[in-house]
Amino acid sequence: MLKAPVQTPEKQAASRIRILPDRVANQIAAGEVVERPAAVVKELVENSLDAGASRIDVYFEDGGRRLIRVEDDGCGMCPDDVLLALERHATSKLRDAADLNAIHSFGFRGEALPSIASVSRFTLRSRAEGWAEGTEVTVHSGRVNDTRAVGMAAGTRIEVAHLFESVPARRKFLKSDRTESAHIALCCRLLAVAHPGVSFSLSENGRTVFRSPACPGLSERVAEVFGRELAAELRPIEVSRPGLRLSGLISRPGQGRATRSELFWYANERPVENRVLSGTLLEAAKGFIPRGRFPAAFLFLDIQPDALDVNVHPTKREIRLRDETSVRNFVAEAVLNRMEELARESSQRLSAPIENPGPSALRPAVTPGPGVRPAARTLAEPDRTPGPQPARDTVQRMPATLPVRPPVAATNAPAKRPCPAGDALPSRWRYLGTAHGNFVLFETPDGLLCLNRTAAQSRVFYEDYLQSLREGSLLAQQLLFPRLFELPPLLADILERHTDFFRANGFGVESFGGDSFRVTSLPAWFEGEGCEDFIKEAVERIAENGMRPDRDAELARDTLARLASAHAARTSAPADEMEVLALARRLMSCKNPLADPRGRPTYFELSRGEMEKR
Ligand code: ADP
Ligand code: MG
Repeated sequence: MLKAPVQTPEKQAASRIRILPDRVANQIAAGEVVERPAAVVKELVENSLDAGASRIDVYFEDGGRRLIRVEDDGCGMCPDDVLLALERHATSKLRDAADLNAIHSFGFRGEALPSIASVSRFTLRSRAEGWAEGTEVTVHSGRVNDTRAVGMAAGTRIEVAHLFESVPARRKFLKSDRTESAHIALCCRLLAVAHPGVSFSLSENGRTVFRSPACPGLSERVAEVFGRELAAELRPIEVSRPGLRLSGLISRPGQGRATRSELFWYANERPVENRVLSGTLLEAAKGFIPRGRFPAAFLFLDIQPDALDVNVHPTKREIRLRDETSVRNFVAEAVLNRMEELARESSQRLSAPIENPGPSALRPAVTPGPGVRPAARTLAEPDRTPGPQPARDTVQRMPATLPVRPPVAATNAPAKRPCPAGDALPSRWRYLGTAHGNFVLFETPDGLLCLNRTAAQSRVFYEDYLQSLREGSLLAQQLLFPRLFELPPLLADILERHTDFFRANGFGVESFGGDSFRVTSLPAWFEGEGCEDFIKEAVERIAENGMRPDRDAELARDTLARLASAHAARTSAPADEMEVLALARRLMSCKNPLADPRGRPTYFELSRGEMEKR
């Protein structure tokens, strides 16, 4: 007699696989999508924005644990859609895979609502335009409890109560109410800033955190949401090139914040975190922001969606840039240029021509440009004076000035050049003397001015240096005896790969076997000992910032220029009156006369009013 076939272990194993009920799948997904109350707020507000809302009100209690409510006046949902919206992978924003490359909405996965509803007591009420009444549905931990018709204005209101009540394991991971509230507040502020045209409010436990009407622009919105004091320190920036656009607000030169926590990036209107973007901004703004302070910024990068990878994590703000180098170069250049422009604008305030200049010992050097009175006593700007002049020697003794000046400046007759506004400035300053070796005092029409000589030298050197590089007029001097030095292996590796970069900057460095190198030439500006230390420091900076000089040319050049200017100012001898005046004049024609490349102020002014008060 045949026995009934016995089930083989394989067959038993095959039947062990099951498709998870949606409710469980949603709870698992919820772990990713809603890691904390702020993530719920973000998903709901983004849905409201996607729905075209012109008003969004967010309310929450106890760090969002007890209650989160988001109400909007957007397009709303018809009764069928209200139920569909709670199904997994139900979305109105994506039809097929092709759409994935051209997403203009915040959501598209159709995961947020079912996930949130699976871990809370969830109430959604919505009325689409053209419908007589709205629909309300309540869901408890993923089970639809009740659906009914309700009277309401067009739009949507979603309440999420007792978040994670049914998932105690997740509840444990929440931080204090205060921390969770802070996350919610930041999330709402950032979204509000990105959409100035939407009226927005946030309240917690019956107290308003912020409330802003629709604003005409970003600046007004930042003032409403982050405060007027911060907004007043910011200036607009806007630069585009095909496929890339950078716009927003950035600290004006000379201003800065105590921490880097007010530095925000958006990519295609989403708040994002990206080390390339924030690092580039910090680097580029360095010379314009006081030392030890940080720029504040709200910067929006518009970029082709396929140049971004936003799917690194479903809710985290991190993004990956497909072509980091070109974005980095674009941002660095945009920020540097804008900061220079702003710095120039604010220094022109000082140098505006005056009607009746008082008697001054010092007048402009060369035949003055329009608007400048003729000189009483000429103070030749040495590098622009044709023919051999004693002043020329003076300049060469002053190492903070490049020995090789750009040919343009040397060949053009100064009188034919339009006189930069800054050039006239020192004519309105009366030299008073030097204090403690490094501080030069001037009387100005408005008060007293104190110039930090080394900072000024650094700044002047830095700009001359970059100019010479651009014009290819940076000279190198061959060393009679090449110098040998060694680097730690990691640094040696980096230097070896970038000897071309160093050569282009005047440092003839060659690999000499193992981790050793030989220096055969130095830039003409380099004075004093310690070229090995200088090169080592430059390599360290490059390593520290993960720079690739062959690709991140702009940043690498800037890093080297900054080191060079610090070195030059350090090794320079004290200057006499003539030199100091030439320096002051040259400083005022710099693109950014306000600070040295490390961000130290080059001068400060004490107004007459202030002196009288004291
Ligand atoms: P996604 O945003 O990825 O589409 P969600 O789960 O966040 O997925 O939302 C599902 C759908 O519900 C959306 O596609 C949208 O059609 C609808 N919806 C959600 N919130 C709103 C809202 N505030 N106003 C109008 N429709 C909404
Ligand atoms: Mg969504």
